[in-house]
Amino acid sequence: MTELAGYAATDKHSRGRRYQEPPPANRSEYQRDRDRIIHSAAFRRLEYKTQVFVNHEGDLYRTRLTHSIEVAQIARSIARALRLNEDLTEAIALAHDLGHTPFGHAGQDALNNKMRMFNGFEHNLQSLRVVDELEERYAEFQGLNLTFESREGILKHCSIPHARKLGEVGERFLRHSQPSLEAQLTNLADEIAYNSHDVDDGLRSGLITIKQLRGVELFSNPYNEVKNSYPELNERRTIYEVVRRIINLQVSDLIRNTEELLLSEQPGNIDDIRAAGKPLIIFSDEMRSRNRELKHFLRTNLYQHYRVHRMSTKAVTIIHELFDAFMNDTRLLPPDTAIKAGALEQDKRQCGQARAIADYIAGMTDRYAIREYQRICQPLGPT
Ligand code: MG
Repeated sequence: MTELAGYAATDKHSRGRRYQEPPPANRSEYQRDRDRIIHSAAFRRLEYKTQVFVNHEGDLYRTRLTHSIEVAQIARSIARALRLNEDLTEAIALAHDLGHTPFGHAGQDALNNKMRMFNGFEHNLQSLRVVDELEERYAEFQGLNLTFESREGILKHCSIPHARKLGEVGERFLRHSQPSLEAQLTNLADEIAYNSHDVDDGLRSGLITIKQLRGVELFSNPYNEVKNSYPELNERRTIYEVVRRIINLQVSDLIRNTEELLLSEQPGNIDDIRAAGKPLIIFSDEMRSRNRELKHFLRTNLYQHYRVHRMSTKAVTIIHELFDAFMNDTRLLPPDTAIKAGALEQDKRQCGQARAIADYIAGMTDRYAIREYQRICQPLGPT
């Protein structure tokens, strides 16, 4: 294995765990983080959560789980090329979406809307809350007790009021410092993954077409290349050849530009990375603008497509009605959640109760949320 760069995250320079534990016998600290994430309940639930297409719409679309695995694959390739810590990168990638509600962004917006009076709901903060508080697996602590570096990577963005409450892991938002390079690259690997796989899923669903995408440079260049080399290739295989080129183009651009920047900035260690004042993992300007063009295309043609919008509207109804029903009568909640909500109910603004309900709803898979809605909000639904 190649030696890590001086500015990579290492066990030796880790800022440690919130609750001290003996070092792992046969693994690195970040491998242990990764393994804890894989064994968590929240990770298993990603299998039945929407990325863009609701889980029951088809078996071939990405879910949060397959998305997270694709992010981990892309992030690890970049980490290895840059001699950064692959284990940490993988841990962050696999955990980055743990806090997502059912029904993708529509679900998150709906829950945030209901939580407006109670400090809001943000999936990114929720991912951290899952690994810090909500997983109940260990005898001696709440959560998974991950290393600072994994937690820092999971918390991609955060408002100032929230950052103040988060202690050490929120400090960088107050000081405007940067997270590790492993965290920075995983954030961009997330973008590379969803931009590319949403093209694939979008085409598969028929909601967008090759003809439309030919107006987008990041698609049209590789598309023309594939067509020239393999004019007889069928459409499905052509799309796969294009999508893998879209991923490769972005990954190569990111590695090339980052290498150049690191060479000129000469960071010596991870503290230099944090103090750099700007991200050191970057795309070229040209790739950034191509990226933006593709994102804009996907937003207007896929995410806002009327068929996606219909599903999103149903999702909003489900989340809103479930939230209201539980807020009005906590006896509808399963006992362990009701106890949490009740224990926190003393709070005058019902903040604690609302948070326990938001945690419960956010933890639901798509189909579980649909079933709960039928059971609770539809008089003739199942019991
Ligand atoms: Mg993601």
